Amino acid sequence: MIVGVMGGGQLARMLALAGQPLGIDCLFLDPVADACARSAGELLRGDYGDEDRLDQLAHRASVVTYEFENVPEASLRRLASRVAVHPDPKALAVARDRWHEKRLFADLGIPTPPFVAVDTHADLERGLAAVGRPAVLKTRTMGYDGKGQRVLHDAADAENAFAALCGSPLILEGFVSFDREVSLIAVRDRLGDTRFYPLTENVHRNGVLVQSVAQPGDPMTAQAEDFARRLLEHLGYVGVLAVEFFQKGHDLIANEMAPRVHNSGHWTIEGAETSQFENHLRAVTGLPLGATHPLAAAGMVNFVGRLPEAAAVLAVPGAHLHVYGKAPRPGRKVGHVTVRAPGEAELRKALARLAALAASA
Ligand code: AMP
Repeated sequence: MIVGVMGGGQLARMLALAGQPLGIDCLFLDPVADACARSAGELLRGDYGDEDRLDQLAHRASVVTYEFENVPEASLRRLASRVAVHPDPKALAVARDRWHEKRLFADLGIPTPPFVAVDTHADLERGLAAVGRPAVLKTRTMGYDGKGQRVLHDAADAENAFAALCGSPLILEGFVSFDREVSLIAVRDRLGDTRFYPLTENVHRNGVLVQSVAQPGDPMTAQAEDFARRLLEHLGYVGVLAVEFFQKGHDLIANEMAPRVHNSGHWTIEGAETSQFENHLRAVTGLPLGATHPLAAAGMVNFVGRLPEAAAVLAVPGAHLHVYGKAPRPGRKVGHVTVRAPGEAELRKALARLAALAASA
């Protein structure tokens, strides 16, 4: 069976690697000739709006999925008129625009930071009066890994940020002084069977995820699962959905959702009975879901910018290295390491060693 994937980056590559034992081949559409997924499946090179390429993808694949949020809407419509597309394009339409996303959270009773749409300078002033300072000004679309957003502490920040970002539709959010950031990776199949991985605690630096640790039995689990279930059911969702939250006290506040496999779920590759990548493929192809329980204490460290020496990484007990085959570049995710350990103390020790290697690369 062939699964078409919009995008040929590392998420597409890991989907393809997970598909191989199941006899599932991934076919990627990506404009970049050396897209890193190409070593794990066939690459159709073309723009995401190239109608001939989209038709080839639809013709050859039994189902099409995607690895990023900014797939053009017209392309999804064209694909969906020819082949099954999962998750449903309406999930993507919501997730690609931070304002629509937060509106949906609010409509479903999922708490969010206070937010307002900002198109004009007057909107910004009204917005700051409504949400207070500090606040975060973000582009509504195309933002990822902390790009397209500024924290506003004072009037000068607000002026500078507005001048820098005002070419795009914007959203102003209240700044949440959170205790920690967590995410929930959920998966739902075509029949509505729903599974959740353990809540994951995440650390970001400059807006980029640097470390995730699975937290089985976390006291916030029920709240996170309740919120994610509302989204899955409302969207008639099929596939993996990631929901990112800020935790403050005993409350979860939703930041964003990703209708795809997610960086904070990479620990599941070696750390869970069935990885998020395999479960996403199972869900979109109509196969039964696999168990999501962790196999041990588990976590992940990202390699951002450059890779450390493989030998140093693999000398850490329980470490499993994943190299994406991407050229090093500041701020670019070039690989990660998952780690499995017999207990919490050993896990923390291994993660500290791996984080030090990542920082010194
Ligand atoms: P995002 O692209 O919205 O996921 O933002 C990237 C990171 O910026 C988040 O993981 C947080 O660490 C931080 N951040 C984003 N929005 C807020 C907010 N409203 N309050 C506090 N921190 C935020």
